[in-house]
Amino acid sequence: MASGGANYRNGTQRNSLKGTTTATDRQLSMNSNPSKAALKNKSLSLVGASSGLRKSSPGSLGGGTAKDDAGVPGRVRVAVRLRPRSAEESVADADFADCVELQPEFKRLKLRKNNWDTDTYEFDEVLTEFASQKRVYEVVAKPVVESVLDGYNGTVMAYGQTGTGKTYTLGRLGEEDTADRGIIVRAMEDILADVSLESDSVSVSYLQLYMESLQDLLDPTNDNISIVEDPKSGDVSLPGATLVEIRDQQSFLELLQLGEAHRYAANTRLNTESSRSHALLMVHVKRSVKGRELAHSSQNGNSTNIAKSLRPTLVRKGKLVVVDLAGSERIDKSGSEGHTLEEAKSINLSLSALGKCINALAENSAHVPVRDSKLTRLLRDSFGGTARTSLVITIGPSPRHRGETTSTIMFGQRAMKVENMLKLKEEFDYKSLARKLDIQLDKLIMEHERKQKAFEEEIERITTDTQNQISEAERNYADAMEKERLKYQKDYMESIKKLEEKWMMNQHKLGERKDQTASTAQEVAELKKLLSKETSLRKAAEEEVNNLKSQLAQLKMSEASANSESLKLRKMLEDEAYRKEKLEGEISMLQTQLLQLSFEADETRRRLDRGGPGKVPGDLDSLISQVRPQVNDSVNEEKASIANLFEQVGLQKILSLLEAEDADVRIHAVKVVANLAAEESNQQKIVEAGGLTSLLLLLGSSEDEMIHRVAAGAIANLAMNETNQELIMSEGGIRLLSITAANAEDPQTLRMVAGAIANLCGNDKLQNKLRGEGGIKALLGMVKCGHPDVLAQVARGIANFAKCESRASAQGSKTGRSLLIEDGALPWIVQNANNDASPIRRHIELAVCHLAQHEVNARDMITGGALWELVRISQDCSREDIRTLAHRTLTSSPTFLAELRRLRIDY
Ligand code: ADP
Ligand code: MG
Repeated sequence: MASGGANYRNGTQRNSLKGTTTATDRQLSMNSNPSKAALKNKSLSLVGASSGLRKSSPGSLGGGTAKDDAGVPGRVRVAVRLRPRSAEESVADADFADCVELQPEFKRLKLRKNNWDTDTYEFDEVLTEFASQKRVYEVVAKPVVESVLDGYNGTVMAYGQTGTGKTYTLGRLGEEDTADRGIIVRAMEDILADVSLESDSVSVSYLQLYMESLQDLLDPTNDNISIVEDPKSGDVSLPGATLVEIRDQQSFLELLQLGEAHRYAANTRLNTESSRSHALLMVHVKRSVKGRELAHSSQNGNSTNIAKSLRPTLVRKGKLVVVDLAGSERIDKSGSEGHTLEEAKSINLSLSALGKCINALAENSAHVPVRDSKLTRLLRDSFGGTARTSLVITIGPSPRHRGETTSTIMFGQRAMKVENMLKLKEEFDYKSLARKLDIQLDKLIMEHERKQKAFEEEIERITTDTQNQISEAERNYADAMEKERLKYQKDYMESIKKLEEKWMMNQHKLGERKDQTASTAQEVAELKKLLSKETSLRKAAEEEVNNLKSQLAQLKMSEASANSESLKLRKMLEDEAYRKEKLEGEISMLQTQLLQLSFEADETRRRLDRGGPGKVPGDLDSLISQVRPQVNDSVNEEKASIANLFEQVGLQKILSLLEAEDADVRIHAVKVVANLAAEESNQQKIVEAGGLTSLLLLLGSSEDEMIHRVAAGAIANLAMNETNQELIMSEGGIRLLSITAANAEDPQTLRMVAGAIANLCGNDKLQNKLRGEGGIKALLGMVKCGHPDVLAQVARGIANFAKCESRASAQGSKTGRSLLIEDGALPWIVQNANNDASPIRRHIELAVCHLAQHEVNARDMITGGALWELVRISQDCSREDIRTLAHRTLTSSPTFLAELRRLRIDY
């Protein structure tokens, strides 16, 4: 300590040193532990990019007022590190005290000049042999690393005698013990921890400078890399050096090992050692400044993406250069160790050039001989440039190397005087912008091409589709056309075929006709011959016929006379039979009356016998006496007439018997009345006496068929008289006759009923009433019985009705259609117009003729088939009068004639 005091009193060097250092002393002490401050502020440095400068830069040196362009003053900081005694030194120097003494608390180093004299030096940091690698990093390198991350260049350099720990300090990998990790490894750890791998990049070059030759340790074949300096900015670059991008610590360590291996191989090849070459690690840190970009874009809120993409990114490019210098032994010492002169010169050329430059810079000399060596050219920015530079000088404790130690210390002292102007390496990244734009352009071109291709494909697809559609439409059209063509062809062929067939047929017919014509002519000739023969034969026959006719006429005349004779006889016979029947009826009736009279006489007698006041009718006995001989007469005398009988008995009496309770009496009585009614002379009387009414009543009240038959016969006889007809009608005769007909089973009863109605049908005045009360229907209803007698009466009735109608039509009192037709008589008429039974046929023929006379019936007659009957009647009827009537009727009816014409019947 006493010597320490002596030191202060020591010569000018100390003073001069002191003089030079005093000015910065306080500042240095204030900045004595910037790494701590930096570490503490690390998080702050992330808050804002602009704050990084103030934080990392030794603001205390420059007052933090300098602008970016001017740079920030930043003196080269120098730390001294003392290597511990090695084992060998511990032995060899055991008897010697160390030549240096460190006072780290004062940042002082005392160098023992001799046993009594020491020199004291102050450094920015004094690192004892116990200083940890971590602390060394934080003190020496960390502020530089932070500056680099903020966009400044930085240099960490180790200077010292071989074996003093330069490589130990900088390059230990600390693989076995992480605490051993040197500055390089720790620096990269911090860098990688701070950068963003997306937006930032970290790349590394590793070089060795040996005998003024710059070798690429990452590519051994590249052993002469040229240095390029930008005269404007003074930036130094090595375009030929391999630049490896670092993404993680591990790959970096591997890269370092690779470089180290290459360095070892190179040194072996050159027969040298690492201590004779300078090793340079260059770490390029490129960071984009996002904060500013964001601030900028927020000011232009409406800026589009393209505008944004057109704006270059602001980038900061910091470069960290770590230099492990060759040993700083003296040239004579090197030489003594067997190095070639050239090599020694070369080593010292770079080192002495560096020393000279530092001297010049320390003395603010106008000229700094930077260009004297490659090393100084490479470190141009590190000393007197824009980089933040931190120098660690390494010394050993051994007094045997005092000289080298002294020289090292002096180098450090001088370096401490070098002022750099730190400059932010910030620029717009036009290159990457251009690259980005290129990429964008390429993308756009690709997109355009893709769209163009898609468009062309779409066009092609549409074209193909359209063509397909067109061809399909064409195909369909062609198919349709072909179908149509085939159809027409087929039709055409068929028509041709038909025409051919027709033609053939015509040809055939023509041939036939020709044949026919020929044969016809022949036939005609033959027929003519036959005709003449026939004619002559006919003439002969006609003569024969005439002969026969005259004979026939003669025969007919004789036959006619015979006929009339026989007719007379038959008539007489019939009359006789009729009379006989009548008389028989009368006899039975009179017998009945007789019986009744005798019964009454007995009654009277009994009353008289009882002495009753009753009076015997005087005429009864006389009546009986009158009747009795008459009865006897009738049995005996056939010619006794009914007239006599009825004169004798009295009509009233007979009629009263019609209502007798005894059925037999009633039957006899009705028979008598019927017989009386058969005589026209009696009819008037019978009717006047109420006989007709009684008969009608009987018809309605009796259920006896015989009574019905006989009564109906009587009514039929009475109905021949016009007055009686009216009476019958007014008494409801049609209804009664209809009921009788409906219930009758005996054809003779029906015949009587039909005859009665037929008579009524002949009354012109009663036509409508008769029909209205169902007379025609009743008549037609009776035909189902089928008996010719009944049918003949029905036919007569119809003929009568038709005759009256035709008469009324002729008089103009009847206009409408025949009531017979109305009541459906026409079918029966047509059906029976040619009946085998002549009485039926005659009546119907007449009826047809009468109906036909009225034109209004013609249409119904045509549809009903009556026209043909009329035609037949007009031609075939045996009775000439009817035939004529039919013919006349036919020819006078326009409707019939039209119909015949329509049917092409030549009438
Ligand atoms: P240089 O690179 O300066 O020639 P080295 O770094 O190779 O020196 O160191 C030489 C020797 O000293 C090595 O064996 C190294 O391990 C050792 N050494 C150097 N510095 C230290 C230290 N601070 N602590 C312990 N050993 C050290
Ligand atoms: Mg070394």
